[in-house]
Amino acid sequence: MWKRGKGARPARRATPLELCDLCAAAFPEDEAVRGYVPDSSAVHPTNDWFDGLRRVTACGDAHFVVLRDTYRRRPFVEEELWAAKITRVLTSGPPVATMEQLGCRTGLYESEIRRAMAWHNEERRQRGQP
Ligand SMILES: [Zn+2]
Repeated sequence: MWKRGKGARPARRATPLELCDLCAAAFPEDEAVRGYVPDSSAVHPTNDWFDGLRRVTACGDAHFVVLRDTYRRRPFVEEELWAAKITRVLTSGPPVATMEQLGCRTGLYESEIRRAMAWHNEERRQRGQP
């Protein structure tokens, strides 16, 4: 019977896996092709520097190009980005009681907040949501 103790061969480290955003293939993390693409529906959970950018991961250059081109064709709607910023504030941190607080926390002007809310309501109406 073999005993494994000190000096035994080192345990194999499991290589973390990634999923391709296009084909959902799983592959080793160090083979991933990553980048940021413009996307007005994307806000970063904590760092607004990355708002409007979506991080995509692909299994290779070919799928990264497809993902990049897909997002390039997607319209970039400022009101959508503002609505996402508002949602982030309303779903995290201390509650917001006034339009002024919402403006401070989102970095948006009141006119932008109103346009974002109108866009959001129109989107919901088109999707048949109350
Ligand atoms: Zn892929």
